[in-house]
Amino acid sequence: MEYRHLGRTGLKVSAISLGSWITYGGHVDNEHAFDIFKKAYDAGINFFDTAENYSAGKAEIVLGKAIKKFGWKQNDLVISTKVYFGLNNSADPSNPINNVGLSRKYIIEGLNLSLKRLDLPYVDIVYAHRPDRDTPIEEIVRGFNYLINSGKSFYWGTSEWSAVEIADAWRVADKLNLIGPAVEQPQYNLLVREKVENEFRWLYEKYGLGLTVFSPLKQGILTGKYNGQSQPPPDSRLATAKDKYSVAYSKTFGNETWQRELDLVEKLKPVAEELGVSLAQLALAWVLKNENVSSVIIGASSPAQVDENVAALEVAKKLSGDQLQKIDEVLGN
Ligand code: NDP
Repeated sequence: MEYRHLGRTGLKVSAISLGSWITYGGHVDNEHAFDIFKKAYDAGINFFDTAENYSAGKAEIVLGKAIKKFGWKQNDLVISTKVYFGLNNSADPSNPINNVGLSRKYIIEGLNLSLKRLDLPYVDIVYAHRPDRDTPIEEIVRGFNYLINSGKSFYWGTSEWSAVEIADAWRVADKLNLIGPAVEQPQYNLLVREKVENEFRWLYEKYGLGLTVFSPLKQGILTGKYNGQSQPPPDSRLATAKDKYSVAYSKTFGNETWQRELDLVEKLKPVAEELGVSLAQLALAWVLKNENVSSVIIGASSPAQVDENVAALEVAKKLSGDQLQKIDEVLGN
């Protein structure tokens, strides 16, 4: 395993981390999830990503159970979770009022609830899962700093914030002598590049912003396994997940965008063949090549997928400038 600094912090995270959206507590049963966690840990993955709302809180519970089951020590792990979306905890779930968003109240209560589900005293990173444009940025920055000062999280980050919003958080943090977001969590893969490569470019140098990137396989599309299929394969998360996000995503199966992306994936096959690697490995290796990426969050649903995906670290070492150029030509970007 390779370990990289989380942006400009002293924290070292495995270059490949394991996420838990949709999978654990969702379409993968607990015993199977434990096997995947173990495989990841044994491969040197020290960084596990989750969120309060993944599988309605069950993803955090399964991760916490895995840590206890295997007797892992928290000082050997980097655990991240996210607050913002809430979990229908209010007396009237249809009207969550203060049980969502990034008010000081919800940031603190939300993380306390996550820690309870994880059964841990602290996490390493807590993310603002989305921007909250109805709460003053000063309140948000102070709220996350409170979590850091009270030892409930060591760093804070953002997810799906714009460059301007991240810079605004830093401006306020600097003014108040507080800690700004160390890391942003955006989508980044061969098909989605704009934010990471253009919009955020000036933030890496100016604020030392780290990146933990999600959906590196564009939810499986970049593995090529959906090419030539009229339905999602029966064991895939698109076919089996009941989570509202994946149900919504599965409805896009076969639409125009989907088809356009599959056509691009088809064009990448000769590049993968030339390297003698799978499409998944090519796609992950390509993300790993970006030095601004602190960690690539994979979403494996079997131990075999962990093995295949971790091997992308070796592929990244072999990926030459010529091959990167060829990929750009093939994708037209
Ligand atoms: P990916 O794009 O890597 O998709 C993961 C899915 O791809 C797996 O569930 C699996 O599908 C398939 N897959 C993975 N490896 C292989 C392989 N080697 N061969 C064939 N199929 C493979 O990542 P995710 O979209 O799952 O995102 C990763 C993590 O990022 C999440 O778990 C979460 O922690 C985080 N995330 C954060 C978001 C945010 O808003 N901050 C949003 C989305 C994700 P199948 O199960 O069908 O086999």
